[in-house]
Amino acid sequence: MYEEIKKLDPFSYKFLMKEFERQNTTIELIASENFTYKAILEAQGSIFTNKYAEGYPGKRYYGGCKYYDEVERIAIKRCKEVFKCEHANVQAHSGTQANMAVYFTVLEKGDKIMAMSLNQGGHLSHGHKVNFSGKFYNRISIEMREDGFIDYDKTEEKAIKEKPKLIVVGASSYPRKIDFKRFYKIAKKINAILLADIAHIAGLIAAELHPNPNPYYDFVTTTTHKTLRGPRGGIIMCRKEYANQLDKTVFPGIQGGPLMHVILAKAIVLNEAKKKRFKKYQEQILKNSKTLAKELKNLGFDILTGGTDNHMLILDLRRKKLTGKEVEETLEEVGITVNKNVIPNDPNPPAITSGIRIGTPAVTSRGMKEKEMKIIANFIKEAIEKRNDKKFLKSLKEKVIKFAKNYPAYIL
Ligand code: PLP
Repeated sequence: MYEEIKKLDPFSYKFLMKEFERQNTTIELIASENFTYKAILEAQGSIFTNKYAEGYPGKRYYGGCKYYDEVERIAIKRCKEVFKCEHANVQAHSGTQANMAVYFTVLEKGDKIMAMSLNQGGHLSHGHKVNFSGKFYNRISIEMREDGFIDYDKTEEKAIKEKPKLIVVGASSYPRKIDFKRFYKIAKKINAILLADIAHIAGLIAAELHPNPNPYYDFVTTTTHKTLRGPRGGIIMCRKEYANQLDKTVFPGIQGGPLMHVILAKAIVLNEAKKKRFKKYQEQILKNSKTLAKELKNLGFDILTGGTDNHMLILDLRRKKLTGKEVEETLEEVGITVNKNVIPNDPNPPAITSGIRIGTPAVTSRGMKEKEMKIIANFIKEAIEKRNDKKFLKSLKEKVIKFAKNYPAYIL
């Protein structure tokens, strides 16, 4: 595999192979990452990358698009079936661009939006000041409780007082079920437009293991590469009344030629999402995250909100007097990849934090189950407890490599 890359660019090949080795010999616990299907890798490396197909099926600005039309149409159809939405645009290059498309469709510069801040578990594209969304719009935050749960009552009070034009419901780090219906009721009271960003939980929703904001939300955006396990990219769903406006915003509004090889891959993963084995996979993600949370709790760690309803859990390291940064670095030293995460009222700045976010989609894709989660919980505990013992960390890394190799991510 990759022989042509080797011939054309030995430098890039060297690092591709190093990354191949890294993926196979470490334990990937970043909640937003996954190991996609080989079919998706094939689609993304296919000849579908060669063609311009600006426009939409049946209305392209280039000739020769008839097969692309078929594939985009089936991707849209499958998306509607899987997520039960009225309209789908599968051209968004990423989750951020999917959100941008919604904002540009219904907001004016300076409008007020309500969303979780980055500190509360929201995403940069939910109005953070370093992102276009924070520069263009005036974001007020959703209210959170001390224990990490969304405070629906206080959020309602604030929404009624502040009257945001749009409410963004969704998160990058929230380990509990989101009550989409409650937000719907809040939005109805103030006539706000509703956007659910299901980037993280799309796979769970597709498998009907998490409530679905469709069809009653105005817009639903997602990435396709997290729990959904597809190609890196975005999708925007909406109610029929917004369909034309939204499609125009995506093209020609904010994007040029669609990435048709990625749309091919989206069609494939959306077909997979209809299968029984996909549901089983999503169920296993949940079993694994619940097991990991329980085991880590038994080993003396505090879990934010006390547990998890989805694919992720958040360690609260305050009582252990550790920072997210040092735990992330220690775990990386032994081959376990996680990311630091802000917790409510975090005494540390975002570059340090007092939390760690842990997710199970990627390890589940490698065939790991509850038994393996117990082993991983012990690896985590040992690494953290003996973080100053370099010799021990080295021997633990060897153990992790041996363990990870039993569950190949990919075989060359
Ligand atoms: N929305 C949420 C909730 C996310 O977690 C992310 C990515 O982590 C995004 C949007 C943005 O996705 P992308 O990185 O594809 O722009």
